[in-house]
Amino acid sequence: MSDAILQLEDVESGYGELQVLWGVSLQVKPHGMTTLVGANGAGKTTLLRAATGSISAWRGRVRFDGEDVTRLSAHDKASRGLILVPEGRQLFNDMTVEENLELGAYAKRARQKFSTSLERVYNYFPRLKERRDQKAGTFSGGEQQMLAVARGLMADPKVLIIDELSLGLSPLLTQQLFGTLRELKSEGLTILLVEQNLHLALALSDYAYVLAEGRLHSQGPSREVARDPEVRKAYMGV
Ligand code: ATP
Repeated sequence: MSDAILQLEDVESGYGELQVLWGVSLQVKPHGMTTLVGANGAGKTTLLRAATGSISAWRGRVRFDGEDVTRLSAHDKASRGLILVPEGRQLFNDMTVEENLELGAYAKRARQKFSTSLERVYNYFPRLKERRDQKAGTFSGGEQQMLAVARGLMADPKVLIIDELSLGLSPLLTQQLFGTLRELKSEGLTILLVEQNLHLALALSDYAYVLAEGRLHSQGPSREVARDPEVRKAYMGV
């Protein structure tokens, strides 16, 4: 038996006629951070979508927390604790911070913990607490990303999947958000991360997978992947 909490086996998927993933297998171990690396268009977002159910896996299996969830809807996967913070944030701009957070906790399991989760989230992001009545659409990019992560946490994730955490953010805000991820990780949250800033992502994560043209190119402990000359040249600009 694998000790992974999330496991993809030979997953193929894509959009209409376009096949993007060609038999990808990966494992996310509990209480750690896994990073998914790859060039633009390699299929990282597609992989996260196929795992969380916003698109379906054409072939292969997705197992989560001991269960085959391949055919479950995104909603059913989310209620079991498989939560995606999507690229582009997808907040409700006309709603306030707190309303967005309430929507994050829609599943039954999450609703029961609503008050504790809200307190916890405001503790991580005091800025959101200060602005709880402000409309999300009036937020800066950095604040919106905080809110997107916070909304993910409100769903009481067993695995939190984050697509492009630092996209469009200043280096300072990126550092701050990574600081929060470090805390979440030290509290035992399981995280799967797609991130452009590989220096930060690989420094914090435990294990990394490199995706190239819809196939797994390589994998290993993040420290080793960060030293791989090919990865450094292709994705880290060194
Ligand atoms: P990036 O770092 O640029 O976000 P990525 O590795 O996340 O890249 P994907 O977004 O998964 O890559 O895209 C993989 C391929 O799938 C690309 O060729 C892209 O054009 C295509 N694609 C992505 N989303 C859709 C969609 N909704 N409909 C059709 N094709 C799509």
